[in-house]
Amino acid sequence: MSQVEWETVIGLEVHVELATETKLFSPAPNRFGDEPNTNVSPVCLGLPGVLPVLNRKAVELAIKLGLAVGCRIQPSVFARKNYFYPDMTKNFQTSQFDRPICVDGLLELPDGSEVRIERAHLEEDAGKSTHIGGSTGRVTGADYSKIDYNRAGVPLLEIVSHPDIRSAEQAKVYAEELRAILVATATSDARLEEGSMRVDANVSVRPVGADELRTRCEIKNVNSFRSLGRAIEYEARRHVDLYEAGEEPVQETRHWNEDDGRTHTLRTKEDSHDYRYFDEPDLVPLAPETEWVETIRASLPVLPAQRRRLVAESAGTSPEHSALIVGRDLDELFIAAVEAGADAGRAATHAVNNLSEGAGRLSAKAFAALVVMETGGDLTATQAKVVLGDLVSAGGDPVAIAASHGFEAMAGDELEKLVDEAIAADSEAWEKFLAGEDRVQGAFVGYVMKATKGQADGKAVSALLRKKRG
Ligand code: MN
Repeated sequence: MSQVEWETVIGLEVHVELATETKLFSPAPNRFGDEPNTNVSPVCLGLPGVLPVLNRKAVELAIKLGLAVGCRIQPSVFARKNYFYPDMTKNFQTSQFDRPICVDGLLELPDGSEVRIERAHLEEDAGKSTHIGGSTGRVTGADYSKIDYNRAGVPLLEIVSHPDIRSAEQAKVYAEELRAILVATATSDARLEEGSMRVDANVSVRPVGADELRTRCEIKNVNSFRSLGRAIEYEARRHVDLYEAGEEPVQETRHWNEDDGRTHTLRTKEDSHDYRYFDEPDLVPLAPETEWVETIRASLPVLPAQRRRLVAESAGTSPEHSALIVGRDLDELFIAAVEAGADAGRAATHAVNNLSEGAGRLSAKAFAALVVMETGGDLTATQAKVVLGDLVSAGGDPVAIAASHGFEAMAGDELEKLVDEAIAADSEAWEKFLAGEDRVQGAFVGYVMKATKGQADGKAVSALLRKKRG
């Protein structure tokens, strides 16, 4: 048995398709789901004599996302990344190498942890291959492969983090946070299931306390946040097992298989020198003017981290609840309801427990009124939930909705009358309760619940009983 305690070291490379009308270097449409090989121009296919023309909108979106994650925007240069694969007819991918457009960013996660972003660079997507036959969906063992060049030349931004992530959970949170920022800035629709956001994880392990980075493996084919967590956990475990058996992992690219829950060797890892990068002679260096960058900066929306801060500041909400409220887009409604007099804790509880599908037709005013009714004792928690459900589906006035359910009668005096009845009905239990036997109070609560068909608030009944005991 080894005494070594291991920590996982993770860096994420996220490719996102930018939300442009057309491709990065050609006027062919950038559109998902069309008939295969219909959105293709001579430039996408790299036919002889064609030249790329850079898409200004793609640059704008790259800058926008870069600024949203705190990057510096710098003059950049396109480069050819040379390799052969049928999904790239030019035999090189136009990408950026040693001078990317965005550098030195930072992502602040809901739990307060921070992950540094090394760079974000522009590049074109390859075509999409589909391997038919065989069992793994990989080219190895396939009978034949189909290629759709609709995706060839679609603008990508590749966002590369530093290896600052220490757990599968944190990796998921990072990817979710990045996705939220992509959606908020409308730079990408960032759909993992459609491949417009693709997350590759570089995973290694090392003894806790060590500084060095050990051999890493790059995990590809992760199609959901859940798979990302599973794949990282599997891979880290595999590395620990190798080290503890006196072996070492080999640097390679591995393919996550959702069905068997394992990673499999895809190719032994190439280093960048294998790609024979050189500056793209058909494109001039890209140096966005400061004025343009600042115009884009001014157009940024309020970002998730800032929205979480606003929720926490307005209502003292916990980091977890603030993240949930913002994640469900309920923050504006929540803050407005608290400003209109709703108890923040109660409103947060509803947002977290009862508004998982969003607010629907619920207005801040109605939300505030409902919470005030509830905290004032006019509605039980159960009744408030029912009224809230109606407000979400149809809108309206919480007082009228409560009345239509017959909830209003249950407040104050009415409840006390029923508690007195319950005591009168079981004087023996009441004597015991007076003598300090709290467990008998169930008899009174049960009586009131039966009399009200479950509409009463059990906690309010208990409170009344204790008040009467003195
Ligand atoms: Mn890439």
